[in-house]
Amino acid sequence: MSEQRDEVIAYVGLGANLGDSPQAVRDAIAALAATPGVSLVQASSLYRSAPVDATGPDYINAVACISTRLTAPALLHALQAIENTAGRERPYRNAPRTLDLDLLLYGDAGIASPDLTVPHPRMGERAFVLLPLREISPGLIGDEDLQAVSLQVVEQLGSFE
Ligand code: ADP
Ligand code: MG
Repeated sequence: MSEQRDEVIAYVGLGANLGDSPQAVRDAIAALAATPGVSLVQASSLYRSAPVDATGPDYINAVACISTRLTAPALLHALQAIENTAGRERPYRNAPRTLDLDLLLYGDAGIASPDLTVPHPRMGERAFVLLPLREISPGLIGDEDLQAVSLQVVEQLGSFE
């Protein structure tokens, strides 16, 4: 996996809505922390949200802050490997999923490649991303960012539910 010289702070959004979703999210945070070239800085609490533009059970969401030596494409690969280990299938767009890992921010990089867009293009529309992100990095999210998603119902759960 490709590496770069300096550590970069990155944020990963996690979501799951099939099976034991809280366990899937906790396992994914542990898998992220165990990935070579990745150290976990902080994980948010777990949150519960209704599916957006989709059907199925409620989602369990969280955001993790990591420090990484991996390049952004290598990190995306690592995230996809963790998804695949959790049995992720993609039968159709926005299908229910055992685990979804999105690269939200990678340092202050702006990336627009066919496989990877950073910052994640839809993060600003999603309360289930902005609320856990603000929990672990309050300086990143302003009140006006939250006002834009204030009608979405997202419930903060304890870390160990
Ligand atoms: P979504 O997360 O939008 O529901 P998927 O998880 O199936 O959908 O991702 C579809 C594709 O999105 C992936 O194959 C990946 O290449 C691409 N992608 C683009 N930008 C990102 C990003 N920042 N984080 C994760 N995947 C991304
Ligand atoms: Mg995804």
